[in-house]
Amino acid sequence: MSSTRVLVTGASIAGPALAHWLHRRGAEVTVVERAPELRPGGQAVDARGVTKEVIRRMGLDAAVRAARTETAGAYTVDVNGNVLETFRADDDGGDGYIAEIEILRGDLSQVLHDDTRGGVEYVFGDRIAELVQHADGVDVAFAGGDRRRFDLVVGADGLHSALRTMVFGPHERFVRHLGLVLAFYSVPNEFGLDRWLLEHQEAGRSAMLRPIGDATRAMAMFSFTAAGFDVDYRDIEAQKRLLRERIAGLGWLTPRLLEHLDQTPDFYLDQVAQVVLDRWSSGRVGLLGDAAFSSSPMSGQGTGLALVGAYLLAGELAAAGWDPAAGFAGYEGRMRSFVEANQEIGRMHARSRDVSGSDAEPSPEPDMESLMELVERAINGVELPDYAGVPDSGAPTGPPITSSARP
Ligand SMILES: Cc1cc2nc3c(=O)[nH]c(=O)nc-3n(C[C@H](O)[C@H](O)[C@H](O)COP(=O)(O)OP(=O)(O)OC[C@H]3O[C@@H](n4cnc5c(N)ncnc54)[C@H](O)[C@@H]3O)c2cc1C
Repeated sequence: MSSTRVLVTGASIAGPALAHWLHRRGAEVTVVERAPELRPGGQAVDARGVTKEVIRRMGLDAAVRAARTETAGAYTVDVNGNVLETFRADDDGGDGYIAEIEILRGDLSQVLHDDTRGGVEYVFGDRIAELVQHADGVDVAFAGGDRRRFDLVVGADGLHSALRTMVFGPHERFVRHLGLVLAFYSVPNEFGLDRWLLEHQEAGRSAMLRPIGDATRAMAMFSFTAAGFDVDYRDIEAQKRLLRERIAGLGWLTPRLLEHLDQTPDFYLDQVAQVVLDRWSSGRVGLLGDAAFSSSPMSGQGTGLALVGAYLLAGELAAAGWDPAAGFAGYEGRMRSFVEANQEIGRMHARSRDVSGSDAEPSPEPDMESLMELVERAINGVELPDYAGVPDSGAPTGPPITSSARP
């Protein structure tokens, strides 16, 4: 019997992680990425709780740890730079605000790509132009001109997923703006920053400076409230103008950080948003990662959801003998409440920034006990079956990782 052919769109975190598991379960995998090469950059992303166990099962614990940022912790500071609060990377068993496993998004993407490129076909600089589902397969026409047939297609193409629009409907139906915009870019490290992150907040706005692997540079990050967001997310100059306008008058190091805005080689700005869909699949097409269930950077768990989701999606599809209806249903059943807990945390953090004009449904503030229960559910609240009896060509390394969270 020939192997199941799966097309995955997006080669950031969710796509290569899914490719890893699909390949191990015996599928033939193609990943198509719109960008001409692997996209570097991005802020630090974290692995907490159950996500660390998925990384271990991938056999990537050592590679991920070797690429960590080694941030020691964070200080919140007042307008004069005096420390208000301290958070350490070893707080809460390594699963706290600054997680023990913190890695730049681009570095994690590189680790996942290096791990999979031997057994997976990667196509860069292309995208799906058209897709037609049939009872026994999916016909895909690529923008670059190729036409191919796959058994399954999975969209791991991020918050602005084109595959989701194509198959499930327009963006506005699923994307909930949390009323915040986030921007960041690298600057020369003329601030004497070492392994500590600094953050200054004033009502509804914040400026942050964080260390990155390269000690000669640092990452500046800003957030501000914005009820509506009508800047094209691909128009960098308009985004920079918006940032200058909205961050004007914010004290601390802000004016010095803004001096580097025009020269920075990297710049990222986007709305802080969540994706909420009733179903993450339609026929032979499924969604994973931010495309399916972005919890927003305010949850600190987008990468965790992508990695855990990749493990479960490939495991459930393979366990169901690659039957799309059964496999996608198993994946949704296992993931949904884990996703919901993380989305709730993301909304709570956004609210704590004095956000108005959010699209999200308001929900009551939980008491301490409910909060602890919610945090535990967001970090560890998903079962990882071992899928004994399901094909697996790779071997895990080291003992299982378990951790429990404290808020
Ligand atoms: C450049 C970049 C920087 C980021 N920085 C941060 C950050 O600092 N903090 C944070 O919390 N999150 C950040 N994110 C989002 C973060 O990576 C995700 O929340 C999380 O890791 C889940 O990843 P994902 O793979 O589902 O989606 P994403 O990481 O958004 O990746 C989606 C991928 O799909 C590709 N793509 C888009 N459209 C198409 C298409 N039509 N066809 C093929 N490929 C397509 C994109 O180029 C991208 O590589 C960033 C994402 C990117 C791409």
